[in-house]
Amino acid sequence: MEIIHISAECYPAAKAGGLADVVGALPKYQTMLGHTASVIMPFYHGKFSSENEYSKVFSGFARMGHANYPFDVLKLEKKKLGYDLFQIDIPGLFDRKNIYSYKDDTERFITFQIAALNYLNSLESIPDVVHCHDQHTGFIPFMMSKVWDYRKFESVPTVFTIHNGEYQGQFVFEKMNYLPPFHSFFNGLVEWQGLINPLACAIKCAWKVTTVSPGYMEEISYTMKGLEDLLRAEKNKSVGILNGIDTDVWNPETDHMLDEKYGVSNVEKGKAVSKKLLCEEFSLDPEKPLFTFIGRLVGEKGADILPDVVYHTMINHPGEQNILILGSGEKIIQNALLHLENQFRGNYCSYIGYNEKLSHQIYAGSDFLLMPSRVEPCGLNQMYALRYGTIPIVRRTGGLRDTVVDIGDNGFGICHDQCTTHDVRHSIHRAKFFYNDKKAFATIRKQVMQIDHSWNKAAMDYLDLYKSLK
Ligand code: ADP
Repeated sequence: MEIIHISAECYPAAKAGGLADVVGALPKYQTMLGHTASVIMPFYHGKFSSENEYSKVFSGFARMGHANYPFDVLKLEKKKLGYDLFQIDIPGLFDRKNIYSYKDDTERFITFQIAALNYLNSLESIPDVVHCHDQHTGFIPFMMSKVWDYRKFESVPTVFTIHNGEYQGQFVFEKMNYLPPFHSFFNGLVEWQGLINPLACAIKCAWKVTTVSPGYMEEISYTMKGLEDLLRAEKNKSVGILNGIDTDVWNPETDHMLDEKYGVSNVEKGKAVSKKLLCEEFSLDPEKPLFTFIGRLVGEKGADILPDVVYHTMINHPGEQNILILGSGEKIIQNALLHLENQFRGNYCSYIGYNEKLSHQIYAGSDFLLMPSRVEPCGLNQMYALRYGTIPIVRRTGGLRDTVVDIGDNGFGICHDQCTTHDVRHSIHRAKFFYNDKKAFATIRKQVMQIDHSWNKAAMDYLDLYKSLK
């Protein structure tokens, strides 16, 4: 089967979050299962593109509104990722450092989608399935079936995965001409509640819609920023498939980002050394249980309650624990987290920014990982934590509910119901009791490292889904 993934992110080429991890790993596992999977994404001008060699495989133009953008399709030299990676270089739109958050993101990603289809249109072979990821690729299923230029793809099955339904990419009708010409009869397919909405358009037009966990699929039919009715209407073609993790990249025995590598047999020593190194770096006390957070500092992740959690935990239980936070996002949260450092120096620290290496070191060196998320479509952090012998403390929502079972229910994690300071503090309290029961704690650590969250099952589930469309 020839599978084409189209996405705004793909690890290691460009990553802002879990989307990149998934698009970076799934094609690799599909290739290992004997299929030809490749990824098409924009060419950003970051570290990865400057450090790698590419060959130009196509040049063309993408007409978006009144502009006609020249673009090149660059193929990564050598199959270093385990599959082919094609990056579309569109000068003026993507020759920037960051992936998102520019005023012209609508123009950028529509042009990218048009360029991707122009490239596919130029090829002799027709893929067996086109798999699109999140709203930045939301018009592809529509364009493949309703835009005259791309009618060649009318019978090619499309799968659309919602990694995060919070971001829908809506824009006003005045920009309708950004899309290539199609019959006005189909206007309703791109519209939702008076705006053009790429996510809604994908849900309407893709042959199959998936979410990254069954729990999230269930939740979004009653809460997804105005798209609930649409999702309920399209329920029959929708399914939740739990993400896997790339166990080549996320393996404490071989992880080149760790100074101390370890496996199940020497987890106690491995984690003790990793924790000591981490604590030294951030001037924390390695004798105390270490609670950490890694992620975007936004309300969706429950990051807005973290300053309050830190303050009350440190004030009410001074010297009993350490808290370390790695993240970036809303300025108000960043400032509040930094502000607390002076007050609780020695027991609390925050690193504001994005740091892939440090994230690996934190998964390895922590005792507990906090995930108080309000919304969590799947959540990869808890699965990485488990693989590194770190106990996740999660709010029961979306994929967190599907992957973490509370120790009180014969499980291995700590769960709470609300995204509130009270619930998180109560969980930290429970965690400290658990931490002090050294024997039980050591047993659970070994157990969680062996839970299989690899892509093997999910990759098969996606293949079965594609086959059902033939
Ligand atoms: P998201 O909603 O952000 O995609 P996921 O749990 O699906 O959440 O994936 C988050 C991914 O991003 C994980 O690989 C996590 O380690 C990584 N990550 C998030 N923030 C940071 C950061 N500041 N530094 C390094 N890695 C980060």
